[in-house]
Amino acid sequence: AKALGRNRCRFFAAGMQEQARARMSLGAGLRAAIEGDRFRVVFQPQYRLEAGRLVGAEALVRWHDPELGDVSPSRFIPAAEEAGLIVSINDIVMAKVLAQIALWRMRGLEPPRISINVAAQQLREPGFVDQLCRRLEQQGVPAGAICLELTEGTLLEDIDGTARMFERLARQGIAVSIDDFGTGYSSLSYLSRLPVHELKVDQSFVQGIAGEAGKRSIIVAIVEMAHALGIEVLAEGIETESQLAFLKERHCEMGQGYLFHRPLVVEEFEKLIPPARAW
Ligand code: C2E
Ligand code: CA
Ligand code: CA
Ligand code: CA
Repeated sequence: AKALGRNRCRFFAAGMQEQARARMSLGAGLRAAIEGDRFRVVFQPQYRLEAGRLVGAEALVRWHDPELGDVSPSRFIPAAEEAGLIVSINDIVMAKVLAQIALWRMRGLEPPRISINVAAQQLREPGFVDQLCRRLEQQGVPAGAICLELTEGTLLEDIDGTARMFERLARQGIAVSIDDFGTGYSSLSYLSRLPVHELKVDQSFVQGIAGEAGKRSIIVAIVEMAHALGIEVLAEGIETESQLAFLKERHCEMGQGYLFHRPLVVEEFEKLIPPARAW
């Protein structure tokens, strides 16, 4: 059994080396993609579950490389983090989303709130809030048109700094959502210290609804705790009617997932935006 363990170890190490190499070449590809403007943004609609009304969309980045083909964000985002490129990529996505919102508004469309993924690292850069506000102003986009999605992990490392940053965003009218909630070392108590507008229940919990009582209990606990703090809940990765029924029954306000729509290219997404009120 011991020998087997050792072999397994070696096998694992070789696999990791390969992964590291693959990530390195991804890094070079990512640099070229940044230079060559090869990123696109797709939009996954978000709904208010009770009313079935479109309330927002999450902006998700897509990368098509001439050699590698379509590369999944779950592969290249970790590589970008490692290569120190995540801030540049998020910045590109942010610029594209703001430009798109401005374009919609110019065409008389009132898009629902667009959620943008932001790295905690980015939030910590001095001037982040000021720069964001400047950009919103330049594009004529109101602060309420966007929401920032942040994952829990690194927010907790500097809870005081995070609280100050969130307060500045709140003062500017920019909503903040905690992404993949429940997967990190969630400390429920930190939430009461942060002005947060929304929790996103990770799709791993939603997908466990049918089979795992434990996952169901966690969702129930998250919703109740969020509501006690005046925070709304959005469930991600809703794929089935029975998942939807459970979430509605438990008063989860919002959701997104393949049951409603996959992430859509801009031309498809804008068909869902209701026409602005006629005079
Ligand atoms: P995430 O933020 O948790 O985004 C949700 C992911 O779940 C997306 O994958 C989305 O396409 C997928 N998804 C949506 N509905 C369903 C469903 O019903 N079932 C299943 N199985 N999956 C569903 P995607 O686009 O591949 O992105 C993966 C991750 O990459 C994202 O997870 C996010 O962490 C990261 N990411 C994507 N775009 C960006 C970006 O612009 N900036 C940053 N920093 N990260 C991004
Ligand atoms: Ca997200
Ligand atoms: Ca998520
Ligand atoms: Ca996730």
